[in-house]
Amino acid sequence: MTSIRRLREIPRFDREVDVLVMGLGMAGASVALEAKAAGADVLVVERGGAGGGASALSGGLIYMGGGTPVQKAAGFEDSEENMFKFLMAVSSPGADEEKIRAYCEGSVEHFHWFEKQGVPFKRSFYDEPGLEPRTDDCLVYTSGEDCAPWNTIAVPAPRGHKAQVVQKGGPYLMKLMLEAVGREGIPVQTDTRGEALVVGDDGVVAGLVVKCAGQEHAIRARRGVVLAAGGFIMNHEMCRQHAPVLDKVTDRNGTPGDDGFGIRVGQAAGGTAIRMHLGEVALPYTIPNQLAKGVYLNTKGRRFINEDTYHGHIGIAGLYHEQGELYLLLDDATFRRGLVGLQPGWVAETFEELEVEAGFPQGSLVATMATYNRDAAAGVDTLFGKRRERLVPLVTPPYALVDCRVSQGAIWSGFTIGGLRTSVDGEVLDFDGQTIPRLFAAGRTAAIFSGHGYAGSGASLGDASFFGRRAGRAVARLS
Ligand SMILES: Cc1cc2nc3c(=O)[nH]c(=O)nc-3n(C[C@H](O)[C@H](O)[C@H](O)COP(=O)(O)OP(=O)(O)OC[C@H]3O[C@@H](n4cnc5c(N)ncnc54)[C@H](O)[C@@H]3O)c2cc1C
Repeated sequence: MTSIRRLREIPRFDREVDVLVMGLGMAGASVALEAKAAGADVLVVERGGAGGGASALSGGLIYMGGGTPVQKAAGFEDSEENMFKFLMAVSSPGADEEKIRAYCEGSVEHFHWFEKQGVPFKRSFYDEPGLEPRTDDCLVYTSGEDCAPWNTIAVPAPRGHKAQVVQKGGPYLMKLMLEAVGREGIPVQTDTRGEALVVGDDGVVAGLVVKCAGQEHAIRARRGVVLAAGGFIMNHEMCRQHAPVLDKVTDRNGTPGDDGFGIRVGQAAGGTAIRMHLGEVALPYTIPNQLAKGVYLNTKGRRFINEDTYHGHIGIAGLYHEQGELYLLLDDATFRRGLVGLQPGWVAETFEELEVEAGFPQGSLVATMATYNRDAAAGVDTLFGKRRERLVPLVTPPYALVDCRVSQGAIWSGFTIGGLRTSVDGEVLDFDGQTIPRLFAAGRTAAIFSGHGYAGSGASLGDASFFGRRAGRAVARLS
C-alpha cells in the first residue's frame, strides 16, 4: 500500500483546514491545543472511536523538573542545569542535546501549562520508586536519579509527576486533556483513519487522505500535517525488521494504533527514521523497594547491575545485554509471597543446591553470593554501587530463585522509542537534516529525545506533550 498520493491526482479536497493532526493521544492533543491557541484552524482525525491512544492506558507519569512547584513543596532542590546534566548522562549515547536543553529550560512552564489545561498535581512525594503512586500523591523517582552511577553526576531529584487521582494516572490524565481539546472547540473526527499523505511534485505536503466508514476523503492542510499516530510496537513485521531484541517482550505496551503507519508515511514523504531498534523495557519484578534487596543474576550466575535502580534500566540492560534471561534471588527475609505476583521457580537451603538445581555454571552463583554478602555486610557494593539501604546480606534460608526469563514467558513489557527524526520544533527531517516542507511529527511517531538509555518513566508522555506543543506552535506559524 502506497502511503503517498500526488497532489495532481487529487481531483478536489473535501475539506480545508490550517493544521491537520493525525492521532489523538497525548501528542495529538498537545499539538492541537497549541496550534489552536496560536490562532490556527485545526482538525484532528483519530482512527479509534475516541481519542486517548496508549496515553490513556499509561501510568500517566510525566517527566518534569528544574524546580516544579511539586518538587519545591516536597523539599527537593532541582534546576534546569541539574536536570540537563542528568538527562544527558542517562540518555546517552545518542541523546538529542538540543531537545534535552529545550526540554529542561521549558519544564517548569510545561508543568504550569498542564495545570492550565485542568490537570491537578498534589504537592506531595511518594517514596516507592519506578511506577506511578498507588495513591493520589504526585512526585516519584522514575529514573534512578538517586542511584549509582547517576547520583554522582547530578544532585538526585525525583521528576515523575502523576496527576492527582488515586487510580491509574493515564486514563484520568487523558480524560482531562480530551476535555481541554473539547473546551477549545477543536473538531475531532473519530473513526477516521489517515491513509495517505498528499504531496506535491515539489515535495511539499498538502494534506491527508483519510478513510471513514469505508469512504475516502481528501483534506487539505494549508499550513501543515502533524503525524501524532503513536509508535510501532504492535507491528510485528516492523519490530522484527527494526527492533528484533525489543520484539521478544511478552507484553506490548500500546494499542492497535501503534502499527507504525505514522512513521512509514513520514518515511514515504522523505523523512528519515532513527533509533528504531530502541525501546523502553520494564520488568515488573523490580518495582517495589523490597525487591531491590534481592539480586539479579544472568545465565552465568553473575550480577550485571545495581538492583536498586529504575526498573527500566534493569529491563533495558537485561533485554539488550542479557537477552532477557534473568533470575531474581531472594532469601526468606526479603521474599514476600504474592508481591507483584512473585512465585519462586526454585527453592533451596543453600546456594550450592540452588546453583545445581537451576543449572548455573559450577561455582558461579556461590562465588557471586559470597562477594555480594561480604559487600553487604561491609555496606559497600564494590561492583555496582547499590545503595546501602537496599544492600542487605541474603543469609536467611531457604533461598528462592524467581524465573524472570523472557523465553519462559516472564512478563517483560515494552514500547518503541525510535521514530521519525524531527527538529526541536517537530519538523520532519530527511537524512541530511533538511525539513520535509509542511510535515511535522510528535509523540512516538517521532524519535524520543533520549538516545540509547530511555530517560525514565514519564519521558514518553513528557516528550509527546512538550515537543507536541512546540510542533503545534511551529506549524501554526507557517503562512
Ligand atoms: C501500560 C502502559 C503504561 C505506560 N506508562 C507510561 C508512563 O507512566 N509515562 C510515560 O511517559 N509513558 C508511559 N507509557 C508510554 C506512553 O503511554 C506512550 O509512549 C505515549 O502515550 C505515546 O503517546 P502518543 O501520543 O505518541 O501516542 P498515543 O497515545 O498512542 O496516540 C496515538 C493516537 O493515534 C491514533 N492513530 C494511529 N494511527 C492512526 C491513523 N492512521 N489515523 C488516525 N489516527 C491514528 C491512535 O488510535 C491513537 O489514539 C505507558 C504505556 C503503556 C501502554
